[in-house]
Amino acid sequence: MLPLDSPVWNDLECARGSAGHIPALIRRVCDPSLLESEVKASWAEVWENLCHSDSVYAATYAAVPHLACVLKGNLDSRLELLLFSGRVLGFGQLVGKPLSVKLVEGFSQVVDKIAAESAAIVREAREQNLLTRYPSTQLIQSTLALNFGCDPVVQLIQSIIDDNLEIEVVCPGCDDPNKVLVDELQSANTNVETSADDDSVTAGMTLANELGDVSLEKRIAKLRSTVKCKSCDVEFAMYDGYV
Ligand SMILES: [Zn+2]
Repeated sequence: MLPLDSPVWNDLECARGSAGHIPALIRRVCDPSLLESEVKASWAEVWENLCHSDSVYAATYAAVPHLACVLKGNLDSRLELLLFSGRVLGFGQLVGKPLSVKLVEGFSQVVDKIAAESAAIVREAREQNLLTRYPSTQLIQSTLALNFGCDPVVQLIQSIIDDNLEIEVVCPGCDDPNKVLVDELQSANTNVETSADDDSVTAGMTLANELGDVSLEKRIAKLRSTVKCKSCDVEFAMYDGYV
């Protein structure tokens, strides 16, 4: 991992341009003596600098291995780390030059560690009533992204909470686009072969249930639904047609 005193930080990009100030921010986040309000403020800065509107930067990938210091710290910070690293992984759009192999490796290794802790973090946060501060969709998306990577289910959870609840899927048989209304989806046809993505649907439903969000659990279950292509009549699992 890139040492915090390395001059290379000055050459890395973040949302504000040069990432020269990011090591100081990381040191602040990792300071175990921070007050609750300071934890919140420093993580807000992490989001602003390193994952602004889902734009991510070389400095983001260099920072996450350091930010993982909070895995040994307080629950607020661990929860923030889960949300942040999951968002970067599932939704991050890289701005700037392609990443070096070293940066990607360092990031991937630490993501595995965070993923291994994710269930325990969510469970503890639920027990301590911290989860009400965050929308359950956000928590579920980040947790699933950490455990399943850029899975279509992680992206689709965004669509199923939108008001219009319309999702465009592409038929794997004929490549024609099909618009589906989530409210009109039929439950899964067990004769249709589905991909391994089903694991993330199950995990998402379990999490929604644990978070007490039954309506979200039902909506996530709809991702198992099958769609009949309007052009060629082929039936496929909705998430297999998501691009
Ligand atoms: Zn088709």
